[in-house]
Amino acid sequence: SGQLPKPFDQLEQALSSTSTARSEIPVRNAVVHWFRGDLRVSDNTALHMAYEKTKSKGVSLISLFLVSPEDYEAHIKSPARVDFILRTLEVLREDLDNLNIPLWVEVVEDRKNMGKKVMQLMEKWNASHIFGNMEYEVDELRRDARIVNMALQKNIDFTVVHDSVIAPPGALLTKGTGKPFMVFTPWFKAWVTYLHENPNYLEVFPPPTPNPKETRIYYRDLFDCPIPPCPEGKRLNPKEVEYVRSTWPPGEKEALARLQKFLNEKVMAYKDQRDFPSGNGTSVLSVHFAAGTLSSRTAVNMARELLGNGTLNTGNKGIACWISEVGWREFYRNILVDFPWVCMTKPFKVQYSNIPWQYNDAHFEAWCTGRTGYPIVDAAMRQLASMKYMHNRTRMIVASFLAKDLCLDWRKGERFFMEHLIDGDFASNNGGWGWSSSSGCDPQPYFKIFNPLLQSEKFDPEGDYIRKWVPELKHVKGKAIHAPFDRLDRKEWAKIEALGYPKPIVKHVEAKGRAMEMYKKGLGRE
Ligand code: FAD
Repeated sequence: SGQLPKPFDQLEQALSSTSTARSEIPVRNAVVHWFRGDLRVSDNTALHMAYEKTKSKGVSLISLFLVSPEDYEAHIKSPARVDFILRTLEVLREDLDNLNIPLWVEVVEDRKNMGKKVMQLMEKWNASHIFGNMEYEVDELRRDARIVNMALQKNIDFTVVHDSVIAPPGALLTKGTGKPFMVFTPWFKAWVTYLHENPNYLEVFPPPTPNPKETRIYYRDLFDCPIPPCPEGKRLNPKEVEYVRSTWPPGEKEALARLQKFLNEKVMAYKDQRDFPSGNGTSVLSVHFAAGTLSSRTAVNMARELLGNGTLNTGNKGIACWISEVGWREFYRNILVDFPWVCMTKPFKVQYSNIPWQYNDAHFEAWCTGRTGYPIVDAAMRQLASMKYMHNRTRMIVASFLAKDLCLDWRKGERFFMEHLIDGDFASNNGGWGWSSSSGCDPQPYFKIFNPLLQSEKFDPEGDYIRKWVPELKHVKGKAIHAPFDRLDRKEWAKIEALGYPKPIVKHVEAKGRAMEMYKKGLGRE
């Protein structure tokens, strides 16, 4: 059709065109697993394949993690996330050490040289095979496609496999037209059917068994590799460190324990409780999905075991609903594969490129700092500042507020989230911002505009979430908590103002009108 091949197709093509030549490469002294967003030893597809390769030949399994300063500017922007990954690497190194598997961690100054670095290490270790789990962002797919070919020239087999999704991308297409799905509900139905028909994709892989003891002798230099320090400019500030670290313990054992506890205590009520930000009705596992300390296969398997009948979408509503939320994560990964321009700051719906966003720095600053005068928005932004996490309902509220009350470019919000979230995940974040700003895949229609007051009254009816995160409003009683400027008498409001809480920076009714005009103008529907 004259279109450029998609980066995902380029990688698939590189893998399939080299498969015969790669299969003829003999195993040398070691097989390598390249860790990326999969920082766990159990249920890890590529690690399991690398291990199987060593087992058949009796050679050593070595593992590798590479990071570049550019990664810290691209996908792992948030200091909390950098800190979480570095802490996770410490735990992972210990887990691997118990299996006599070394973890070599290195900073590659220039991301372009990643492939060269991998080849140098492979040659140094006399290793013939390297395995990695696929990352679906454009740069990562292109990097892997390059390295597959580069490796072959050095007589090295680089195999890249699916792991962070359960059904392989490309496997599900719409019935009539055979095109990628653009709506979640039919995609999810097809996903459930596909996995019921192909239960092998739900198979959970055991962790590797230990390397032969000799590995510790042959590769002794690799066992004491230090985890690199956190780069300057990415450090949590000293006041935050203790709270963030105690709130978010790293590692796969922690992830599994959290999952088990959630399944034991909360999942049954998930559907009814998940929308209330002051309750603890959700799993709070996104940080682990994002770092790869938990695989979605394991999560879905453990949840469906509770259903008792092995299905994914029938039985208890809470469990089925939770599995479908994990499905959203996978759906958004498929979007990166099929519509790669979303990785390049373009909206999924290209016709939304022309929306005349406003660029009001004062409004953006007020949003970022939780000083909009809308208590539910401010509570959420302060939860983010403090916990480095935000409840899903309030993520939708603040995103809608940014795009539709403040008429600001949603990409500013998307970036701000990635700069602060501990669970920042490009696909889910981009999908969530696309949904809220109506420019994404299967989004909220542009004329549907969340009313922050109604959202607040519905989902934080007692105002507990607001009181927790906005101390200036701690003593406000009753319904006034949702709109103190409008609902308190003058004297009472003056007290709040004296504490530094701002008046609403926009009036929702007016803002709604402005947003409608802005969207219609951009879409040529004036
Ligand atoms: P639960 O409700 O327990 O759900 C279980 C898991 O399912 C989550 O951990 C997550 O992996 C997945 N999930 C749930 N809801 C969604 C969803 N709407 N989209 C994709 N996956 C989902 N999630 C991220 O992991 N990283 C992000 O950077 C991110 N940014 C978002 C930005 C916006 C504007 C919005 C609206 C949503 C965003 N989400 C993001 C999705 C969702 O808000 C979080 O995954 C969820 O709040 C995490 O809490 P939990 O683990 O308790 O979720």
